[in-house]
Amino acid sequence: MEEKIAKIKSEAGRKIDSVVKSLEDLNDIRVKVLGKKGELTSILRGMKDIAETERPRIGQIVNDARRELEALIEEKNRELKAKMLTSKLEAEKLDVTLPGRRVVRGHLHPLTVTMNRIKHIFMEMGYSVEEGPEVERDHFNFEALNLPKDHPARDMQDSFYITEEILMRTHTSPVQARTMQAHEPNSPIRMIAPGRVYRRDDYDATHSPMFTQVEGLVVDQGIRFSDLKGTLETFLRQIFNDKVGVRFRPSFFPFTEPSTEVDISCVICQGDGCRVCKGTGWLEILGAGMVHPNVLKASGYDPEKVSGFAFGMGVERIAMLSYGMDDLRLFFDNDVRFLEQF
Ligand SMILES: [Zn+2]
Repeated sequence: MEEKIAKIKSEAGRKIDSVVKSLEDLNDIRVKVLGKKGELTSILRGMKDIAETERPRIGQIVNDARRELEALIEEKNRELKAKMLTSKLEAEKLDVTLPGRRVVRGHLHPLTVTMNRIKHIFMEMGYSVEEGPEVERDHFNFEALNLPKDHPARDMQDSFYITEEILMRTHTSPVQARTMQAHEPNSPIRMIAPGRVYRRDDYDATHSPMFTQVEGLVVDQGIRFSDLKGTLETFLRQIFNDKVGVRFRPSFFPFTEPSTEVDISCVICQGDGCRVCKGTGWLEILGAGMVHPNVLKASGYDPEKVSGFAFGMGVERIAMLSYGMDDLRLFFDNDVRFLEQF
């Protein structure tokens, strides 16, 4: 019996020693000798055939052999792993002379650039920048702006309704009402509200169901139409150029009275007449007016004590004219070949 154990031990020892590469080979040997059905294990199983007096001694020998083999396997295991790490490190040499990967730098979208320019001009004039939700209550989008439910002018802004009372805002004007209501009644306001607005509309060269507006509101004691004119002339000459002509035409908006459309002389043909200005030499650029007394009242302001003016413009239109573009969809297609030009 002792010889048999010694033989198993020396044979296994030799095999373990001969393994040079594979951890799997080593594991196979372990299973074959020490596993549940392994050679040494089967000797322990066969103890019942050994004389009772001999059993402790043989058991001791088997366990000693087992410990020795386990130690050998463990040592071999460490050796193999170290070898593998070394060869891996050698194979994966790092060539520090290779050129690095270029980081592609992005830049602001032309609409964002235009919006930032608009904000900057008004902030220099002391305006604050206010924000409001794009999903808006009918009350703020229409009623607080003098557009009750049956008002025909609502048809001009057919929108996306979520419920009867909640819709995607059709303009940034609700921020006016929200800002006034957040202030003490009759306290002065000088703000712009930039943001996206939504209307059920076609998607073509000049229309989109989603576009960007900037709304402005000034309320204080003694604000006059001349303040409106001076402010907008200053703004338009800064955003386009200081020679641009500005004209005011009477118009109608439910939330202002009187109301005006504001045109600039065509920045493409300098007023001579071209395709963009349809031969008139003028471009419609924004709508404005003196805040309607009902709008002031709806937000707790007293039209006998304060007055104000408001204006609104489409950022896409200003960007298109600034960059000489003729198709609004280019802003939203996100074609990198187009965007890279800015
Ligand atoms: Zn023109």
